[in-house]
Amino acid sequence: PLVLGIETSCDETGVGIVRGTRLLANTVSSSIEEHARFGGVIPEIAARAHLEAFVPTLRQALETAEVTLDDVDAIAVTSGPGLAGALMVGLSAAKGLALAAGKPLYGINHLVAHVGVGLLEGGPGEGALLEGSLTSDQHTGVTQLPAGTGALLVSGGHTEILRVRSLTHEVELLGSTIDDAAGEAYDKVARLLGLGYPGGPTIDRLAAKGDPEAFRFPRGLTLPKFIGTAEQPGRHRHDWSFSGLKTAVARAVEQFEAAGRPVPTTDIAASFQEAVVDVLTSKAVRAAREHGITTLLLGGGVAANRRLRELLAARCAAAGIELRIPPVALCTDNGAMVAALGAQLVAAGVAPSSLDIPADSSQPVERISV
Ligand code: ATP
Ligand code: MG
Ligand code: FE
Repeated sequence: PLVLGIETSCDETGVGIVRGTRLLANTVSSSIEEHARFGGVIPEIAARAHLEAFVPTLRQALETAEVTLDDVDAIAVTSGPGLAGALMVGLSAAKGLALAAGKPLYGINHLVAHVGVGLLEGGPGEGALLEGSLTSDQHTGVTQLPAGTGALLVSGGHTEILRVRSLTHEVELLGSTIDDAAGEAYDKVARLLGLGYPGGPTIDRLAAKGDPEAFRFPRGLTLPKFIGTAEQPGRHRHDWSFSGLKTAVARAVEQFEAAGRPVPTTDIAASFQEAVVDVLTSKAVRAAREHGITTLLLGGGVAANRRLRELLAARCAAAGIELRIPPVALCTDNGAMVAALGAQLVAAGVAPSSLDIPADSSQPVERISV
């Protein structure tokens, strides 16, 4: 199916167009610069920016894909989770388009879309790291996930390990962060280091020049009392915690400042990144092994991280887990991921959403479509 996807859950206005698993267009307009001086996303500013950017973004996506609204089979839109006011702009636009063009509407889960983007065939020059290939059902076109598929979702607001029995029908949460998300940790540490917002890309770049072993920062929830054993799992065996790491970085910065010495920003960035990536990958691989997950989909903005892509690939290979990593450009918020999940829902014959669906700012990951 030809599906148009609309994403406005945070600060990216995204419109993507796919035909099945083929990406035809992915236009993203970001209001990130308007938020940078506040050190974080301001909901009111984000919503206004979506309102201004939506139609130009839509026009450009249609132009790139060389299709018209008449051609599309369905319109998919993020219904949650995200900022309520921002979500409402995309939802209103999607409903208006669906009504005017007489197309079915699919309200979908932003988190599942982050994971589902890995089903798209990589576009040219986008740095896709796809091992193996997924096949589609001959009749329906639904992508067939191998038995034992799981997902590691690492984004600005979420850090979760999932079992994915079906991308359209059944996703189960196996573990998650108990405090900050991985992307949130990057953003907070960047702020501590005076690196601006968002922190992920900047720390990623700086870390490449620093020593990842200069500081030994804590790996949260790795003590035996939290982990337990495979037979007697501890309460947080498959969970993460990043707030202690952020505090440890703050202490280190303070010590240099108090001593009047220059803060070794690149070494701190590299050591912080190593702590995040080490604990993310080690716990994800353990959860995968113990839950029989042999194919892992990586998704979310932090999946753009060079070190995470590298270490997760190495550890999955060592554990015999097949890993699928989306192209860097499709890791952070975009409309293509919404369209990709929408196309799966259409192909699977899932009923469309009604035109009165609300924005659900805390939509749980198990609620794939509304
Ligand atoms: P959610 O998807 O949980 O609702 P979000 O949509 O705000 O949150 P994403 O767009 O998926 O989050 O990702 C943004 C996050 O990814 C930010 O926290 C950003 O710092 C982080 N990020 C982006 N690029 C990188 C990178 N190269 N390395 C590490 N983190 C990164
Ligand atoms: Mg964003
Ligand atoms: Fe996101």
